[in-house]
Amino acid sequence: MLGLMQQRPLLISSLLSYAETYHPGAEIVSRTGEGAFHRYDYRGLGVRARQLANALVALGVKPGDRVATLAWNSHRHLELYFAVSGMGAVLHTINPRLFAEQIEYIANHAEDSFVFFDLSFTALVEGMAPRLLGVKGYVALADRGQMPAATFGPLHCYEDLIAAADADYDWPVLDENTASSLCYTSGTTGNPKGVLYSHRSTVLHAFCACARDGLSLSSADSVMLIVPLFHVNAWGIPYAAAMCGAKLVLPGQALDGKSVFDLMVAEACNFSLGVPTVWLNFFRYIEETPGLPLAEVKLERVVVGGSAAPRAIIEKFHALLGAFTIQAWGMSETSPLATIGNLLPKHRNLPVEEIVDVQVKQGRAIYGVELRIVDADGKRLAHDGAEAGDLLVRGPWVTSGYFRGEGGEVLDDDGWFATGDVAKIDSDGYVRITDRSKDVIKSGGEWISSIDLENAAVGCPGVQEAAVIGVRHDKWQERPLLIVVRKPGHDVTGAAILGFLTGKIPKWWMPDDVVFVDELPHTATGKLLKLKLRQQFADHVLPQGGTPSSAAAAG
Ligand code: AMP
Repeated sequence: MLGLMQQRPLLISSLLSYAETYHPGAEIVSRTGEGAFHRYDYRGLGVRARQLANALVALGVKPGDRVATLAWNSHRHLELYFAVSGMGAVLHTINPRLFAEQIEYIANHAEDSFVFFDLSFTALVEGMAPRLLGVKGYVALADRGQMPAATFGPLHCYEDLIAAADADYDWPVLDENTASSLCYTSGTTGNPKGVLYSHRSTVLHAFCACARDGLSLSSADSVMLIVPLFHVNAWGIPYAAAMCGAKLVLPGQALDGKSVFDLMVAEACNFSLGVPTVWLNFFRYIEETPGLPLAEVKLERVVVGGSAAPRAIIEKFHALLGAFTIQAWGMSETSPLATIGNLLPKHRNLPVEEIVDVQVKQGRAIYGVELRIVDADGKRLAHDGAEAGDLLVRGPWVTSGYFRGEGGEVLDDDGWFATGDVAKIDSDGYVRITDRSKDVIKSGGEWISSIDLENAAVGCPGVQEAAVIGVRHDKWQERPLLIVVRKPGHDVTGAAILGFLTGKIPKWWMPDDVVFVDELPHTATGKLLKLKLRQQFADHVLPQGGTPSSAAAAG
């Protein structure tokens, strides 16, 4: 027997309509390309998103067409989020930090029909335009006075399009499984692959961000959205913020410590989200700038994800700002929220240090996400916090396959998606990501977690950033090499770092060598590019004789 409830589709346009009706005055503050601030609210967003939808129709955008953006976090980019998907087209947010050839590849693969771009990307777009074969037009996110001289086209002015468009527009009632947005994963090998989200997956995912045991987002929050709108739907926050009427603060291109700090204070932000690198810069600014009004920072919760949150960051949020770090794990293929690091009641009265022990884990699966770990034969491993295996995931906001069939079948017979991460899951369900499977260091038949080593190393004073890779070793197969970027003005030595690590990691994990570099290679999403490091240090000769106790010796 079927239930008798209404079949109302879960649509992105309904999030905006709700925000306009119930939180019309909740603010949206945005730093524009010119550095000035633009302020309006969900009422204003609703009006301009409908004007934009009419403008898109006038440009000839049809349901299902891909509309690309190359843009920072701004109100205009947010309008595209709602207008493009709301009218039934697909928002393709391109990561501008990719190499130009990769951007060209994905814009052509996606068959983008229009490209909306911030002025800071004019030269990039100009260089690619002759090879973007399917593009029917370009729109500069600017007003008439700022329009660049066009050597490519047709080139439109965003503010002119909006000004000419009517604000009356009825959002179409789409099938909730209609594609809404498209993000390409920046794989370290092979061509990027497109993850195609739907209205339904996006709205369900937004509920998680608003749930108390999710990110607990609500109308009480002023959100500093540091994670870019071009990184996996900005972790779903634009949709979740509309769902609950949270204030949104969009920092534009200025993500340096000072700009983030000043804006956070000015807009009384109590919630923020970003990758570890942003927070490392943020704390460096705080530590190097005596006399900052730390008491004026209203931050209460910070979501850190994209890479493992180093213990030092979590501790600094506690100690310097009284803010709680919520570590989240996910990937483009999981929309991205999959596990979220909240505390259980039994943790609440623990001393801070033990609370941090919980926070360095990647959190527990949120409702809707199923997880399991398996060994190399696909056999299920125990959730005992000890066994490490390949992490599998499934759920209604997990991909079922890549855009246009790239990569072939990606689910196993039971619908599990292999994440490529290696993890342990403890008896409370907390996940601990120990590595990407291809980055695991295999030493003497045991595995060493490069992530744990890196996080321990960045806790050492004088260390700005650290990477650990496995280097060939005659006896132990591989041994860890620690590659360090020093903080400017510091001259910390290899011996001092190894001394600092003593007692913090198992003895046999101790890196065999430490090398210093000026900078580490990163992917376009800020992750360490270990493939490149492995190539760079492929012939590195480890010092002989001083090899630390082996896995075997550690028993
Ligand atoms: P992307 O698809 O570019 O968002 O990358 C997803 C990958 O980032 C995951 O498969 C993990 O390897 C890594 N990642 C994301 N969040 C975390 C986290 N909190 N801790 C460790 N690794 C993470």
